[in-house]
Order: sequence, then C-alpha cells, then structure tokens
Amino acid sequence: MRAQPEASHFIDGAFVEDAAGAPIDVFHPATGEVIARVHSATPAVIDRALESARAAQAVWAATAPAERGRVLRRAADIIRARNRELSELETLDTGKPLQETLVADATSGADALEYFGGLADAITGEYIPLGGPGDDFVYTIREPLGVCVGIGAWNYPTQIACWKAAPALACGNAMVFKPSETTPLCALEVARIMIEAGAPPGLFNVVQGLGDVGAALATDPRVDKVSLTGSVPTGAKVYSAAAAQLKHVTMELGGKSPLIIFDDADLEDAVGGAMLGNFYSTGQVCSNGTRVYVHRAIKERFLARLAERTAAIRIGDPLDEATQMGPVVSAAQHAKVLSYIELGKREGARLVCGGQALPGPGWWVQPTVFADVTDDMRIAREEIFGPVMCVLDFEDEEDVIARANDTEFGLSAGVFTRDLKRGHRVIARIRAGACWINAYNLAPVEAPFGGMRKSGVGRENSRAALDHYSQIKSVYVGMKPVDSPY
Ligand code: NAD
Repeated sequence: MRAQPEASHFIDGAFVEDAAGAPIDVFHPATGEVIARVHSATPAVIDRALESARAAQAVWAATAPAERGRVLRRAADIIRARNRELSELETLDTGKPLQETLVADATSGADALEYFGGLADAITGEYIPLGGPGDDFVYTIREPLGVCVGIGAWNYPTQIACWKAAPALACGNAMVFKPSETTPLCALEVARIMIEAGAPPGLFNVVQGLGDVGAALATDPRVDKVSLTGSVPTGAKVYSAAAAQLKHVTMELGGKSPLIIFDDADLEDAVGGAMLGNFYSTGQVCSNGTRVYVHRAIKERFLARLAERTAAIRIGDPLDEATQMGPVVSAAQHAKVLSYIELGKREGARLVCGGQALPGPGWWVQPTVFADVTDDMRIAREEIFGPVMCVLDFEDEEDVIARANDTEFGLSAGVFTRDLKRGHRVIARIRAGACWINAYNLAPVEAPFGGMRKSGVGRENSRAALDHYSQIKSVYVGMKPVDSPY
C-alpha cells in the first residue's frame, strides 16, 4: 500500500500499533484504491496517550517559554523543508490537488507553528496597582489548561492538527489529537516532526479512530479542553459531553456563508472570489461562500463569465501539478453531494453548468452552478460541502443583508463592491465570524478565525487563540498589616 504509515498511532515519541483495534481503510479519492490501513485506538491506547500527555505537559509547562517557542519554530522549519513530501501525502489522503496542498496545507500549519512559537515568550500576565507605591496590588499569571484534545475534520488534516497544536503548545499544554478517520495519515507526520524539533515525548500524541474514540477522549476526566473541527451535529454532541465535566471547548463547525456581489463590483474579481469560495478543495471548505447573492443588474453577465471560467477548470489526477480540481474525499461525500445536486434540480433551480458525476474510479463531481436559487430551497439552507454554487438574486441592500443573516450558521461572509463605505457598512451588519471585503477564503494565521451562532465557539489563529488555551490566575498581594475586625 503506497502510503502505509509505520504504525497507526504516535504516542510518547514513537509509533505505536495495537491490531486489536478495528481496522480503518484509507482510500485515495482519485482512484478509490486502499493506500493504507490503520487501527482504531483501543481503550489501552487511549489510556497510554493520555498518561504520556499528562507527564509531558508537566515537563513542558516547566520549560522556559522561549525554549518552547524555539521547538515550535523548528517544527515549522522542518515542515517547510518537507513541504513537497507532506503535500503529496496530503493529496493521496484527501484527493486535493497538489497545486493546492503545496501552498495551503503543510505551509499553513508551518505558519501557525511559527506564529505561536514567536508568541510563546510573550504570553504574560499583568500588574494591577490598587494604590500608590507600597500599596497592595494584584498580578495575573496566564497558566496552561493541561491536556487538550484536538479532533479533526478531513478537509485540511495537516492544517487542522497544527492550528490546534500550535497555540495549545505555545501556552504550555499537551495535546492528544484524533484525526478524522477519513484522513488519518498526515497528523502522524506532524507528531514525528514535533519530536525531531525537540518536543518532549508525549507532548503531541496522535490516536486514530471514529467518533467513539473522539467521544472517549472528550469525556475522559484527565482532559481539560476539547477543540473540535467538524459538523454542527458532532459539535453539539462534543460540546454537551464536555459541558458535563465543565471542560473548556473550541468548536470550529460548519457554515452556509453568504457572498454578496454588488453591481459596482469588479466582475473578474467577483467571479474569481465566488469560484475560490465554492470550488477550492473541490468545495470542501467550511467557510465557503455557498450562497452567492448577485445584484440583478449584473447577474446574467456574472453567470456567463462564471460558466466560461468554470468550464476551463482543469479536473484530473490531483498528483499532477497542472490539475486545478480533484475528486471529493469519499464515496459517502460523493453520494451526499450528488443527492444535493439532484435536489437542486427538483427544487427548480436553473442548472448553469455541471450537475453530473464524472466517471470513476474515484469520486468525481463536476463543478456545478445553480442560478435562480431562492432562500427557501434546501440547497440554499443546508451545508453541501462539495463543488456546488448557489446563485441568488437581489436588488436592495437592506433586503440582501436580512436574507444573508437568515441562517442558523455564522461562520463567514463576503462582499464585493467598489464602494468603500458600502463594503464596511454591509459587513458590519452580517452575523459571521470570519469576513472578507473584495477577497474570499484567505485565512492568514494573524487573523482570528471562527464562527458565530451554530458555526462555533471560540477562535483559532491570532492572539485570540491564546485566550482559548490558557487560564488566568490572579494573585492579590497584601503589603500592609492585615486589617481584620476580629
Ligand atoms: P464530522 O463532524 O463528521 O467529524 C469531525 C470529527 O469528529 C471526526 O474526527 C469524527 O471522527 C469526530 N467525531 C464524530 N462523532 C464524534 C463524537 N460523538 N465525539 C467526538 N468526536 C466525534 O465532520 P467531517 O465530515 O469530518 O468534516 C466536515 C465538517 O467539518 C463540515 O461541516 C465542515 O464545515 C466542518 N469544518 C469546519 C471547519 C472550521 O474551521 N469551522 C473547518 C473544516 C471543516
């Protein structure tokens, strides 16, 4: 098998196997071939991972923050040096084209490790005076939470592992990471690289498994925090399991984000933004702008140019660097996306282009655009997570803001307009956590990323992530004789 890892899990600085766990086949989505087989973590494996994380966390929390930062930055350097091999593995695992994985996966993980490595020795408390010199005062200490669990989705496996591990480790925590069962391979390489970079064994462990392993981790009393990237239904389950023990959580969940294109927008930019926000990673991006509201005055021109540029997308072998779109990740996702395409046809949306599966082997779908979509159609309300764009019409700014906000989600939003004031005015009123004006789907580590409403809790990336992986201790210091009435 062409991508078989040394063993299923990575615990305490080494690959670990326990063949008693249920086997999980790993498929290359472009061919459907089995490229690896891993085993789900048994209770013994989970126990070992948590115990070693606990021991490593104690060592790590006692390590100078500057040294912690150096370890993370070395890991970033190693990832960059191995970008090609990591990207090829990511492409085999996810089916995303190498053209994308070379620039958006391991490199994005490296950015996070470098950024949080740089911040590790700047995670400080504050001094709070309560009077003048010599009077009582308070100081604060920013402490780690302890052992954090990361649970990943399958669309950005390396990035998700690093986006969770980097701030967690910078703050002095350890992490046990469970990748998605669909894409278990790359997190193991991240774990290997952490050790090479000088992290203590056990600081970043990887265990494989389905939802039951995630649930076992999320409910274990040795775990202080759970950070999930996944769908809203899974988020609700993990959030309530964590709540039963009052654990900290970060929830990065799904979306059905609006992208509003006004009639004064640069048409090429707007078409390019809508395509990036619907077809990148074969449409399997949580922040995708899948409800594209286009002003009626430019709608037909927009659709014509969109159809022309969509027809030119190079679909094919994702390992060929010229390929721009690969398959969807799995047979299940393939069936789901195709069922939504059929639903769109039945609901009466106008099929502008695509609308079919492409022949296998592997799980291929044509990039698909529906126009004349209305807000009540299920294709406009539910997350499809495939290359399916819904174009809706609007004329009035107030009206489109209300319609954009009429969703249970709140992950992302975008506006294309040349009117500076309108761009800011509209975004200010959209209820979404990660927004763009005249751009779409760029997520630099410097910017907070995360959702409002059912799209999530907490933020990844940026300084904001540090708040979600640390807790504040305040210390009151009495400088005077104790004034006790007793
Ligand atoms: P999913 O919810 O099916 O699974 C996510 C992870 O949770 C997997 O590792 C799975 O094994 C685990 N899991 C399932 N049940 C569990 C349980 N009861 N307890 C603990 N863990 C459990 O999601 P998916 O299909 O892997 O990924 C696609 C979804 O992820 C989409 O909805 C997408 O929008 C979302 N996503 C969000 C972001 C973000 O940053 N907001 C990023 C990527 C993907």
